[in-house]
Amino acid sequence: MGRRHKVAWAGLQTALQLIYPPRCLTCGGMVESDFGLCGPCWRDTPFIGGLVCDLCGTPLPGVDDGVPVHCDSCMTTERPWQQGRAALMYRDSGRRLVLSLKHGDRHDVVRPAAKWMAHSARPLLREDTLIAPIPLHWSRMARRRFNQSALLADALARETGRTSCPDLLIRANRTRSLEGLTRNERFATLMGSIRAHPKRTALMEGRSILLVDDVMTSGATLAAATEACYASRAREVCVIALTRVANES
Ligand SMILES: [Zn+2]
Ligand SMILES: [Zn+2]
Repeated sequence: MGRRHKVAWAGLQTALQLIYPPRCLTCGGMVESDFGLCGPCWRDTPFIGGLVCDLCGTPLPGVDDGVPVHCDSCMTTERPWQQGRAALMYRDSGRRLVLSLKHGDRHDVVRPAAKWMAHSARPLLREDTLIAPIPLHWSRMARRRFNQSALLADALARETGRTSCPDLLIRANRTRSLEGLTRNERFATLMGSIRAHPKRTALMEGRSILLVDDVMTSGATLAAATEACYASRAREVCVIALTRVANES
């Protein structure tokens, strides 16, 4: 970009900020930058840091000395992927952000959320990483009009300089709502429910895939999606969620 363009661009940004002053994503108060949260909300948002489970991103007690550790849940549940992370815990404003993204068409959450996810996903990124969302079933997509995970995947790809493929995976059949099901019922319902888009299998061969979801609960959906990638001969699969639901103990 030439200097004149830069000046014009900065001017446009300033003008936009005067018309749409950046607002805090959770309380709606004014914020200085467009990074999304005011000071008090920043402190109340359950960002995940420090030592985490290398498979699901759950925070663990202790210090990070570079040796991968796994939480109780990942030691007892099959996790077909290589590594996994999450940016926030699914509670308080972490939960509110996801719900506003899902049901409130709050697309302004996407860009800051992608920045937080990019930070958490750093250990999972390879040179050839291809980023793909967990697909929403078409009938739910029709009702909700957009797939929030696809928005996050696209923004994360821009943030990390990697490629994204919104329709890498598709739903094979209608899966009923998972609410109220036990952990085992969830896994059984979801296995085989996701497959590669027939036109995208060649893209995956020998490649590192990063799967994106808004919430990781049991991990059943991510496990089904991971199996679909390996069936298309992906080299490795990692997963990143915007939020992680605390393990039930
Ligand atoms: Zn705020
Ligand atoms: Zn774990």
